[in-house]
Amino acid sequence: MEQFSKNCIFCKIIRHDIHADIVYEDNDFFCIKDINPKAPVHLLIIPKKHIATLNDIDEDDFLVMTGFFKIPKLLAKQFNLAGYRTVINVNPEGGQEVYHLHMHVLGGRQMKGDLG
Ligand code: AMP
Ligand code: ZN
Repeated sequence: MEQFSKNCIFCKIIRHDIHADIVYEDNDFFCIKDINPKAPVHLLIIPKKHIATLNDIDEDDFLVMTGFFKIPKLLAKQFNLAGYRTVINVNPEGGQEVYHLHMHVLGGRQMKGDLG
């Protein structure tokens, strides 16, 4: 798989072709503020490598992808979140709109039990 995808909005952000509020960055991931926030704090954790969906992670990428489970607590500290919700939408039926894998981190308000 290509490292970058030419027409992908998140690939354009990491190459600074379009602007976003980047709130965290390391070798393998970057995090931005969601442009259409669904909570007072709504962040996206995005691998720098272009991976279309959660279904498209290669065997070789799984070690790097542990970042998905390391970064939320860093963001929680940075944004002073006592709790938060993480979401990964997959494919149209899962509500995915941007086909570059990302994890939503939502916080700053009381989350409800219903995930729908
Ligand atoms: P999903 O439905 O899981 O694919 O979520 C895509 C998210 O990306 C949505 O919450 C959008 O608001 C967000 N988004 C789309 N374009 C941008 C952008 N240029 N900067 C920040 N967030 C964006
Ligand atoms: Zn991409």
